[in-house]
Amino acid sequence: MATFRPGNVEELYELLEKLGSGHFGVVKRCRKRSSGTFYAAKFVKMRKCKGSRLGLDREQVDREVSILQQLEHPNILCLHDLFASKAEMVLILELICGGELFDFIAEKETLTEAEAIEFLQQILQGVAYMHGRHVAHFDLKPENIMLLEKDVPNPKIKIIDFGLAQKLEDGVTFKSLCGTPQYIAPEVINYEPLSSATDMWSIGVITYILLSGMSPFQGETDAETLSNIIAGNYEFEEKFFSETTDMAKDFIRQLLVKEPGSRMSAAESLVHPWIKPLSRKQATNRSRSSINMKNFRKFNARRKWKLSYNMVSACNRLCHLKLLCGQRMEDETLRGCESDQEDEATQPVTLLRRRRSSCS
Ligand code: ATP
Repeated sequence: MATFRPGNVEELYELLEKLGSGHFGVVKRCRKRSSGTFYAAKFVKMRKCKGSRLGLDREQVDREVSILQQLEHPNILCLHDLFASKAEMVLILELICGGELFDFIAEKETLTEAEAIEFLQQILQGVAYMHGRHVAHFDLKPENIMLLEKDVPNPKIKIIDFGLAQKLEDGVTFKSLCGTPQYIAPEVINYEPLSSATDMWSIGVITYILLSGMSPFQGETDAETLSNIIAGNYEFEEKFFSETTDMAKDFIRQLLVKEPGSRMSAAESLVHPWIKPLSRKQATNRSRSSINMKNFRKFNARRKWKLSYNMVSACNRLCHLKLLCGQRMEDETLRGCESDQEDEATQPVTLLRRRRSSCS
């Protein structure tokens, strides 16, 4: 079990502005009083009682912490310190200043495949490292791929949010309904055993979007998206992939494979000729092909809009609920309780984000 410092985080860290928020709490910039170094403080609300649907169980946070403690890699978020009280836990994390990779790319005029591969390679290196340590992330998506800094010559990727991550034990079958519909693998939807291959499917989806600005399985509704995934329904529409190399398509094809055992692993992806060209011709092709920036920007704008829409409607629903209960509402509480928002309106997402898992 992870060891947490008891007491108040504010004795040792000065809390500064809010950086972001997730389903279970807020993330704030903070400064260590003794050294002046900046970090990110992630506040996670604890479930008050067993039946409550708000907050997380202590074991869930312990798992996230224990996994972060086992990982030390330049492309993976680093955990610095921990605090615990009865009501919440505070994870002091390495501060990530460069924002999301997708936002960074969307601001560019053009991007060649070769430039996109530099980012992808770092993602794969982080993922290959965690898979080598028998850890699967299970929530790889654009929101969880950030840049340490952006105004530098070679921005460094950081994979964040290990809230759904699992240590994979030999001989133990892990099943879970978790993740975000667009990015989840068929085995998640079918409630079949999950493995590191489950992350590789998500990388296939992320790569597809990165190159075309299209989401391979996106339907009109979450239910339609899930059924497209199960059917393995996707194609490289010429309209969106006119500039894409065959190597890139081959890379994606080897990841979006229904059977997890036949999917390319992270280690194999790193030596796929699209990532590591075997000839000068292959290298030149990558530098001449560009990603579909116009469509990518559209995708990213829609993605950001959906994220803020979900957050606003979550808060509205919760406010309504709290008003009905006659309770006073504070901003912080609102964020921390976001997990309850999705219950009715976006059922499949809820089902997937609220872990239902089993080990056998
Ligand atoms: P989710 O709802 O996706 O599960 P969560 O509650 O687990 O989220 P995180 O995804 O870890 O929380 O963090 C929420 C947001 O806070 C991130 O999207 C990001 O904007 C910001 N954030 C998280 N960690 C850091 C960090 N180390 N440095 C800077 N910002 C961060």
